[in-house]
Amino acid sequence: MTQVFDINAVVGGLLRDLAFAQTLQPKMFGYKRAAAAVLALDTPLTELIAAEGALPKIAGIGPGSARVIQEALETGESATVERAIDASGNRADIERRRTLRVNFLSRAAVLRVLRDPSIAEPTLTDYGGDLQMHSEWSDGSPTVEEIARACEARGYAYAAITDHSYGLKIAGGMSMQEAADQRQAINRANGGANAFRLLQGIEANIGADGQLDLTPDEACTFEVVLAAPHSRLRRAEDQTERLIIAVHNPAVRILAHPRGRITGSRAGVVADWRRVFATAAGFGVAIEIDGDPARQDLDYVLARSALAAGCLFALDSDAHATDQLAYAETAIAHARLAGIPADRIVNYWPLDRLLNWLADPQSEIPGSKQETPCQ
Ligand SMILES: [Zn+2]
Repeated sequence: MTQVFDINAVVGGLLRDLAFAQTLQPKMFGYKRAAAAVLALDTPLTELIAAEGALPKIAGIGPGSARVIQEALETGESATVERAIDASGNRADIERRRTLRVNFLSRAAVLRVLRDPSIAEPTLTDYGGDLQMHSEWSDGSPTVEEIARACEARGYAYAAITDHSYGLKIAGGMSMQEAADQRQAINRANGGANAFRLLQGIEANIGADGQLDLTPDEACTFEVVLAAPHSRLRRAEDQTERLIIAVHNPAVRILAHPRGRITGSRAGVVADWRRVFATAAGFGVAIEIDGDPARQDLDYVLARSALAAGCLFALDSDAHATDQLAYAETAIAHARLAGIPADRIVNYWPLDRLLNWLADPQSEIPGSKQETPCQ
């Protein structure tokens, strides 16, 4: 089983601890920025220091953060951070946050896993395209056209724009009229001579009862329906039924960011994942690995049990800006660590196989009970 030692994640975590031990807001934000800077580095701190003989200048890293880095490199922990936590009276909350950042990868660790020659697949070069991205039609910033060209520039054969559906008002969910207008924009983006194909998807919201915020007829107007939880993500009670009802929905093809966890902040949905994965496997519903660095949901450890259950996977960026398309690489790194063969990942299929599965999961899961509601 592949183990990950990730010095930048260790240091990033300590700097976040230090941020939550501050009483003055500017200092708190300063250490949060320092943590983000370390987590976004392409190179492990150990290599940076070995190459230069000392910690090089890094934007966002001041003397206080540099001391934490030095201590972490020498001992794996930081006496400075521990003293600050004790002085803050905030230890219980900070310890809770520590438990909520397991199996998160720094950018440097993602790049190392992508280059690791001992892992054959899935590769970055064979990735066919991203199936979760947000545009100006909900809470993203880019236009449809900008997304299409950015995906093409990354060498994708296809991709799906998956703005939020109308039930998620807080994320600017699209009305069905807006979705029809967006379809025109997608058709225009597909109008050129190039082979790249943009699909119109939707990220439907899973309600407390497991139902989606789309009627079956509405769901049928989209080429790919993702279902994702966005509420009740900080509760201790079991929500297995909620997710199983969503997976049963005949329109759903991808269960997106299945837990809804956020690094160092919330654990997300508590569920019997073996039951959720077994149901998804039987219905031909793909389990997403969401590559947003703050989500990483599923992570490689939980993804291994989804693989053992026989699930299909989708590896997506969840980008809300075109420079976030690289978040797909985080998802690919988790899939490599989980040992998922490319053939089990829908983003690695040629377009015709992907479209066949979207139209009818029984093309991949013979005998699956999923009806095909959209004819
Ligand atoms: Zn979402």
